[in-house]
Amino acid sequence: MKLKICGGVKEYGRACFLVETAAHSLLLDAGVMKGNGVSGHQRWPLLTPDEIKALSGVFITHAHEDHTGALPRLFDQGFRGDLYGTQLTERYLLKSGLLSQEVMNRHWRSLEMISGDQHQVCFHSFLVSWGANGHMPGSVWYTLKDSLHGKKLFYSGDFSCDSLLMRYQLPACRSYDMAIIDAAYGLDAFEQKNQLRLMMQLIDDKLAQGGRVLLPVPLQGRGMDLLALLLSQIHRRRYTLAIDARLEKTLQESLQYPEWLRRNRIVDAQHPATASHYLDRCLAEGSLCLFDDNPPFRIPDTPTVMLSAHGMMEDDLSQCIFQQLTGKDLVLLTGNQARNTFGYRLLNQTETSLQGNAPSTRYIRYNVHLDIYQAAALATKLQAKKWLPFHQKNRFELPITHHMHETLLDPNVGDVIRI
Ligand SMILES: [Zn+2]
Ligand SMILES: [Zn+2]
Repeated sequence: MKLKICGGVKEYGRACFLVETAAHSLLLDAGVMKGNGVSGHQRWPLLTPDEIKALSGVFITHAHEDHTGALPRLFDQGFRGDLYGTQLTERYLLKSGLLSQEVMNRHWRSLEMISGDQHQVCFHSFLVSWGANGHMPGSVWYTLKDSLHGKKLFYSGDFSCDSLLMRYQLPACRSYDMAIIDAAYGLDAFEQKNQLRLMMQLIDDKLAQGGRVLLPVPLQGRGMDLLALLLSQIHRRRYTLAIDARLEKTLQESLQYPEWLRRNRIVDAQHPATASHYLDRCLAEGSLCLFDDNPPFRIPDTPTVMLSAHGMMEDDLSQCIFQQLTGKDLVLLTGNQARNTFGYRLLNQTETSLQGNAPSTRYIRYNVHLDIYQAAALATKLQAKKWLPFHQKNRFELPITHHMHETLLDPNVGDVIRI
């Protein structure tokens, strides 16, 4: 079995791994590099036309663009195989318009996800299994076993063990010849509970000073977690929560799929009414208000926390709110800002349109990936003979145990590894 790194290693984006045996080949994800000004050469996974035509299928971990954005291009270049992913991933892909209903009808093969169970399917000479990886609804890891040679591979997709809402599982089977593991945060290891404490402290301080706080978040994953957290804190902290109406809709939808949810006091998977209850109560009493772009949202003067629905502020509603903020207010960024997006420019103080009385910007990361220590711990748990971190921005020296150095691989995009 051979593994070609087509993207996603030592870079944040275009996650794509080609697995080949003598008889068949498949892809694990087919993402693009996001960000303004990314050149064509960097944007797409490194695949030759012959490799694309020879593919039997693509296994997709989740709907994010950095894992799926290259799918239309694969079809343009002669791919005729099947696409595999969960039903929720299919739903999100259709909703995003990335692939047409016609293409999905012809090529999509849904993978089941029933509460508590792990599943497997035969794909040519591979036995493929999957399970929840805690990143967003519908998001999974995969294991591949090559039945001809018995070699085993684990691919985490975007993995989180820190989500407030999403549950994760580990594969029942251990001992892998190779594990490809999300290590997006590299050496920047921050404990989630400390990050949340810092975040809430910053929000409390800003509101106490008479300011307002804008948190731009993506619709899924981090957006859902922070919405649930802020909802649960409304009464204790006495603020108004104003959110993009799409976030409320997405949370209501997520609660319809308890098989993906963790059991805790914010959302109990057995009683998903808990978060719905917060939503209903806060909406009824007016401490939660929803906005969209019609009519244009006017931000209140009272202590208000706002959630807009684009993590990098590249949408009209985030911009509309930002224009109304003043020097006493705060923009709190909590996730990756792709190069040259509005959020990136704010954070790096390169946004040229700012007037004198602009709000301050802070960054406190909310973890939706693993750092290198968590990735190493996962590799150990899985008893991986070799492991390969992906999604991390830079190359790094790993200051952990000697044992980890022995098992850690350090390839580049374009390299081929024999498993
Ligand atoms: Zn993702
Ligand atoms: Zn990703």
